[in-house]
Amino acid sequence: IVEVRDLHKRFGELDVLKGIDFTVAEGEVVSIIGASGSGKTTLLRCLNLLEEFHQGEVLIGGETIGYSIRRGQRVRIREQEVARQRAMTGMVFQAFNLFPHMSALDNVTLGLTKVRGMPRSEAVELADHWLERVGMLERRDHRPSQLSGGQQQRVAIARAIAMNPKVMLFDEATSALDPERVGEVLETIRSLAQEGMTMVLVTHEMRFARDVSDKVVFMEAGRIAEQGPPQRLFLHPESPRLQAFLKTSS
Ligand code: ATP
Repeated sequence: IVEVRDLHKRFGELDVLKGIDFTVAEGEVVSIIGASGSGKTTLLRCLNLLEEFHQGEVLIGGETIGYSIRRGQRVRIREQEVARQRAMTGMVFQAFNLFPHMSALDNVTLGLTKVRGMPRSEAVELADHWLERVGMLERRDHRPSQLSGGQQQRVAIARAIAMNPKVMLFDEATSALDPERVGEVLETIRSLAQEGMTMVLVTHEMRFARDVSDKVVFMEAGRIAEQGPPQRLFLHPESPRLQAFLKTSS
């Protein structure tokens, strides 16, 4: 459902992604691991069209995103199209990014009414369904400041999923949380994965990545150094880089 082919991304002089190839099948959970600065977040942001990329192709649900080819030239598509394609993925950020002046419920319904044009009553019903699913229904009327980090993140997950994306993208969804709040968010992600939601997770939680993933991608300096099933990567890493990385991060 996601195909990334020869993806390149630069920030000025800095080559951050140097030719990334990987695929995510429907229902698959793929974790991206790697040292700080290896390009994991940038890769995720390219999938969500939050970053432009210079070379290569990303297909989601068979559709090339971000660019079209006109007379042999890569042309960035229009903003309206970008917005439509961005909605094919649901992004969950490290810093939650909820609207602070709105209740949990309104955070979830906003995209449904404004972007999807759904009637308010229908949006509320759907939002309640997902808020219940992440264990936040009882606090639907609370604002973000009245919620713990873990609770805010669960609302952010409900908000992203309610839009019915083809794939969910989690960018270090637990790194900003107090240690005692990490578990509840990981449990929420795990249960969604078990229900067959397609996901790409950038994570520093190695044990979680091992338990929940169908495939693990190890990034090193803008390239994929190794990828495969978690049993193989974690138990029998081939590249010395991955061996060293696992030693320092477990
Ligand atoms: P971390 O685990 O620390 O989040 P990461 O693997 O996700 O790291 P990225 O955030 O993708 O790494 O960053 C990759 C490189 O790109 C880093 O060297 C970073 O400084 C650089 N970078 C990221 N965003 C920008 C930007 N907007 N402008 C310039 N350089 C950037």
